[in-house]
Amino acid sequence: MILSQRLDKLPPYLFVEINRKIAEKKAKGEDIISFAIGDPDTPTPEYIIEELCKAAHDPANHRYPETAGLHELCQAITRWYKGRFGVMLDPSKEVLPLIGSKEGIGHISFCLIDPGDIALVPNPGYPVYCMSALLAGGEPYFLPLTEKNDFMPDLESIPKRIANKAKLLWLNYPNNPTGAVADVVFFQKAVHFAKKNNLAICHDAPYTEIAFDGYRPPSLLQIPEAREVSVEFHSLSKTYNMTGWRIGMAVGNSQIIDALFRFKSNLDTGIPQAIQKAAIEALTGPQDGVARRNTIYQQRRDRLIKALNDIGLRARLPKASFYIWARVPDGYTSVQLTAELLEKANVAVTPGTGYGSAGEGYVRLSLTLPDDRLDEGINRLVKWHKAR
Ligand SMILES: *Cc1c(COP(=O)(O)O)cnc(C)c1O
Repeated sequence: MILSQRLDKLPPYLFVEINRKIAEKKAKGEDIISFAIGDPDTPTPEYIIEELCKAAHDPANHRYPETAGLHELCQAITRWYKGRFGVMLDPSKEVLPLIGSKEGIGHISFCLIDPGDIALVPNPGYPVYCMSALLAGGEPYFLPLTEKNDFMPDLESIPKRIANKAKLLWLNYPNNPTGAVADVVFFQKAVHFAKKNNLAICHDAPYTEIAFDGYRPPSLLQIPEAREVSVEFHSLSKTYNMTGWRIGMAVGNSQIIDALFRFKSNLDTGIPQAIQKAAIEALTGPQDGVARRNTIYQQRRDRLIKALNDIGLRARLPKASFYIWARVPDGYTSVQLTAELLEKANVAVTPGTGYGSAGEGYVRLSLTLPDDRLDEGINRLVKWHKAR
């Protein structure tokens, strides 16, 4: 038996490696505090679970769903976008529910990239942008996100010959892993760049609802011309603590949405209907839980940022997302610091290089662990620093 060469392009998925190392330590009976994984620690709100249970009992939801998703769900997504961003969408042409947004992010490369084409990919960035371009036979061209540029890609610096071969620009704000945010002025520039170079923008936006100090992150689709060239990925995972249920959506340009639908209809048969019903409830039900949950993240952010800066892991205060992007102290690489913290402090963080070469010099810490664990993690980091 011979596996396809396509698979040779894939390095081990970052978190698989980290989880394996943590599991090894745990197997030895050690208690590890993990800041490494971005996965909400608080449960899915009760009203959403109640709808899920009710829908699970209805035999209508036991049968095959449709790839296009329930029309009711597309309508709920449309209403949510209008209410939250003032963006009007056509629920039958501009909305496609996904089995979690990662699924759509992976598959869309196959709709936009032919062998030899270029995808413009932020570095550091969510690994799926690069991997799906490679799987589709394309080449990533990396756009460095640096502290000097406030973690925004410098679109003007992309060589003409690269822009000509590029079919797709990936953006992700609020950003994972840097916690950076983008304003509508930047989005306007990106749309102009995409139109000039005849390429599509995919904006991955699962963190627009995780924001602090009253800040409200915008949607790319607030730019009037954006839907001529763009789709935006969104997810219920981070907004409603629903990572385990697997539901998200792509919205925007109807031609790209239709392409993704046609591709997906040959691979999957949609999202379990009970989960779609729960998603409708999440989007249309009371939204005050989101702000309450953000208050929890904000308090954790403030405690962790202070501690990190005190011990020489310099970090900016993120306005959104649940990540802190901290500089490693002099004398360490990202991987060396990660290994030392795991070894000596029993604290897990993610090395910045896991998100690309430009992540060197940083580690990422997630705020998705219970308060008492976060505080114990801080204690261990302080103790490690003092003994250093
Ligand atoms: C969490 C995350 C996603 C994936 O979310 P799902 O909808 O759960 O698949 C996509 N992009 C980024 C940047 C993320 O951090």
